[in-house]
Amino acid sequence: MMNFFNFNKEKNQAADSTGGTPLTQRLQTFLGKLHARAEEMHAEVQDSAQSVADADSDPFKRSYLQFKAGMIAQFNAIMQKGSGVYQKEVVPKASPMELMALSQLFNDWNISVLNMMTSAFDHVVERDLEREYREIMEEYERYKDRFHCKQCGGKLEIHTFYFTATYIACPYCRTQNTFDPGTKVRMAEHLARPLAELRCRGDYETYKQQRKLLGAKGAEESYRAYVFALIGEMDNILPGLETQHQNFCNRLLDDYQRHEVFR
Ligand SMILES: [Zn+2]
Repeated sequence: MMNFFNFNKEKNQAADSTGGTPLTQRLQTFLGKLHARAEEMHAEVQDSAQSVADADSDPFKRSYLQFKAGMIAQFNAIMQKGSGVYQKEVVPKASPMELMALSQLFNDWNISVLNMMTSAFDHVVERDLEREYREIMEEYERYKDRFHCKQCGGKLEIHTFYFTATYIACPYCRTQNTFDPGTKVRMAEHLARPLAELRCRGDYETYKQQRKLLGAKGAEESYRAYVFALIGEMDNILPGLETQHQNFCNRLLDDYQRHEVFR
């Protein structure tokens, strides 16, 4: 992502002639380490911020915002550290010729870390999955309770969870009726996996611990336990799709074998 480490190659003569001074090299090494730390933090945010946000059922998302504020504070600390060293320890020692290259180096670094900080949380969607699911199910129940035959007005009983449009034959007059609970209920399909993942976070954490201790092969049992729990939750969330969920289960376990254990 960085033009920061090789900026010397592209700069003008002034930079070229001073690019290799010990002071420039020292600043480059120092900023490079801070940059690597910022990249680690950025990766950590990509990896965990969404699940922190999902797990926070507080309507004000307080634990998520606390996590976010903590990460931003760490990015700020990195920028302050880099800036402090640059201003207090590098600039006073620099010759006018060196200063050009040094300030370019510092500015590129500063912009890059700032970009990481401001973009780190872009992908995070603040949702309350349990509430979304509850609302979907309420809407579904309302629609289901009001579902009558368009021909004879008989009450049509629905015992399976249909989240997409489905033909239902009236048991009294045999007319085909379309049971269509609507767009919002169809969203349940996309909610099933993230909601199940949220509910199985404990199992996932157990797997991750095992994975750290025992490696991919040793952690396989705990991974299977996590996947089975996940599939069980998906069946709870979307009853009637057990076959699809089972296929998804097999795929996850195959992928684990193929990409993790026999790598
Ligand atoms: Zn009817």
